[in-house]
Amino acid sequence: MSLYFDDTATRKPDPEILAVYMDALKTYTGNPATGYAAGRAARQAIDRAAAEIAEALACDPEEVIFTSSASESINTALKSIAWQSRRRAGDFLAYAGEHAASQECLNFLAEASGRHLTYLPLAEGKMEPDRLADYLRSHAVDLITVMYVSNLTGIVNPIAELVELRDQYAPQARFHLDAVQALGKVPIRFSQLGVDFLSLSLHKVGCPKGSGLLLARKNVPLTPLIHGGGQQHGRRSSTENPALAVASALAVEKAVKQQAQAQEHCARLKDILLTALREKEVHFQLCSPEPAVPQIVALYLPDLRAENLQTALSAEGIEIGIGSACSSGKKRPAAAILALGLSDEAARHMVRISLSPETEPAEVCHLVERMAELLRLYGVSS
Ligand code: PLP
Repeated sequence: MSLYFDDTATRKPDPEILAVYMDALKTYTGNPATGYAAGRAARQAIDRAAAEIAEALACDPEEVIFTSSASESINTALKSIAWQSRRRAGDFLAYAGEHAASQECLNFLAEASGRHLTYLPLAEGKMEPDRLADYLRSHAVDLITVMYVSNLTGIVNPIAELVELRDQYAPQARFHLDAVQALGKVPIRFSQLGVDFLSLSLHKVGCPKGSGLLLARKNVPLTPLIHGGGQQHGRRSSTENPALAVASALAVEKAVKQQAQAQEHCARLKDILLTALREKEVHFQLCSPEPAVPQIVALYLPDLRAENLQTALSAEGIEIGIGSACSSGKKRPAAAILALGLSDEAARHMVRISLSPETEPAEVCHLVERMAELLRLYGVSS
């Protein structure tokens, strides 16, 4: 048996998207920057894909930039904002618990430029808008970056409120939104969010890995991360991949179209999961503060280290996540997970179970049965 509960790390490629991708790889063979027929066909495929993405995410096709990953999108946005505001040299601001792609990029930028970087603390996993207001009232800030949905807990952060505070107290500051875990889980309408940049990772929604998007507001200057032949209106050089653009558009469209249904299905699964854990008398604490998306369920298991449970489940063909997917394997828990206010040891007891539109209730019940049994066998209170 093989059961997968780690869509937050990546979703298995969607067969329909893969088929379209493979087909497009064979169809669009030209370099989209060339003027002959094969190049023009490739160009048109990319333009169509951008238009479809724009339609699905309520932005302008010109605001769509294809990237290799969300990490690249995030680096592009943050480094551009830092570069564009270098003369004002205002602060960089984020809440604790951001994904490493943002944190490491900010840490680098602050060190390289000598500019001030502040991480506002979370209160039991939550962003408190008052903290942002206080900071913006008393400091000159040029860059704000936050996550829409936490990859660790699934909490949906109050973006509208935070953007309003930026507009009120620091209109010069550019606002970047890491919406990686929001796609397919909450509605994303770029033109209504009021942010300047938005990053997405498409392997999280069934597209082949190596696919990301940066939405960049039209009238906001962007310094490219990758210089070269000036592709994508000079915002990201390197030869474009029409097949990946086509697959990306389908992945976005499907995620947006299925969002409401996925939400309903996963809410039911989450209920089944928590009820079954209680019935089996598993010791746990739910670490996904409300409002959280039902697709990401973070649990603190006092009786066993998450890594051990992950290994034992994996030996039975069941995959679950622990802490931040991208930093598992490191010696210390990720900074992001410690930002939840957990001690080093407690952070090692956090598992993250991802529920997806494809997950069946019986699979959730099987997971709980195996978890309960393994905790009985190996847990400290066994
Ligand atoms: N931001 C968040 C919230 C994520 O969950 C991830 C991946 O786990 C990333 C950024 C990085 O995405 P990518 O793998 O496309 O670089």
